[in-house]
Amino acid sequence: MKAAVFKEENILVVEDVPDPKPGDDEIIMKVSYCAICGSDLHRYAYGMMNPGTIMGHEFSGEVVDLGKNVKGFKVGDRVTRCGGKISPGSELSNFPPRYSARERGFLPLKPGAYAQYMATSAEKVMKIPDEITDLEASLIEPLTVAVHMVRISNIRLGDNTVVLGAGPIGLFAQQCASLAGALRVYVSDINPARLRVALELGAHKVFDPSRVDLVKEIVKLTEIGADVALECAGAKATLQQALELVKMGGRVMVVSLAWEQVDCLPVEWVGREVEMKTCYGHLNSEWLISLSLMQEKKIKTGPMISKIVGLSEIQEAFQELLKPGNELVQVVVQCN
Ligand SMILES: [Zn+2]
Repeated sequence: MKAAVFKEENILVVEDVPDPKPGDDEIIMKVSYCAICGSDLHRYAYGMMNPGTIMGHEFSGEVVDLGKNVKGFKVGDRVTRCGGKISPGSELSNFPPRYSARERGFLPLKPGAYAQYMATSAEKVMKIPDEITDLEASLIEPLTVAVHMVRISNIRLGDNTVVLGAGPIGLFAQQCASLAGALRVYVSDINPARLRVALELGAHKVFDPSRVDLVKEIVKLTEIGADVALECAGAKATLQQALELVKMGGRVMVVSLAWEQVDCLPVEWVGREVEMKTCYGHLNSEWLISLSLMQEKKIKTGPMISKIVGLSEIQEAFQELLKPGNELVQVVVQCN
């Protein structure tokens, strides 16, 4: 089969690799779509993974083979990723105590979905309901990141919320914040294409912080500052902006992974006793929430998908996404 194999910093090569065989508890999925994640882009650009790695964790596809212990699936089932077994009350991640998101690419990783076929534990996939297309289902992972963030953000009915960064996670966070009861959701990004999508998805107002002073604008609109800021950008200025634009005692959720030093001037906001919390990944139960939100048509993905590329075009797609000023939001790879 063909797969996109990481060679070195900034180089993915599509080449022939052996077809995966299912372990006893695994399924083989013929990959329909795999969405390009910002974390893949970072690991690719910074060379933070082992040569030979096949990335891709935002996928959908069709079951074509099953291990001998697998129950509940049959050949032909449409599936997407999920979190696995749900153990109520003990859902926190089992990462090592000094886990670093930056070094994660060097942990042992199974080959991912930038490939025609992929083997995965049957516990880590769920069936796609008829109401959801394969293309939509490939975005269930970033949606679940946003679901997790919004659920632990304690957004309450009537809150003014600001989303910094209108990439896929930010745009899902925007939609989830509205569903959670945020009255006004303001979105900030320097990319005009992303701001257009944010408006299409119902943002109350959008801002380009390279043209206006975001903090001043938000304070003008809310008088006291926003209740909640969702930092989904990880740009040099955005953490400081998020911490500065919330109200006294306001909350900042940080989901973005800044790979370089960011600006921070605590004297501007320490006096307001703001709360900051990071969030990472998802709880197993939250995948089912995402699936239901998509099934009930509460979440829109269409406007977010800027481009679908073939597997053979993946290297160019990564390069294009990393180009400053590109007008892309979400790029999805069609793997077959
Ligand atoms: Zn992802």
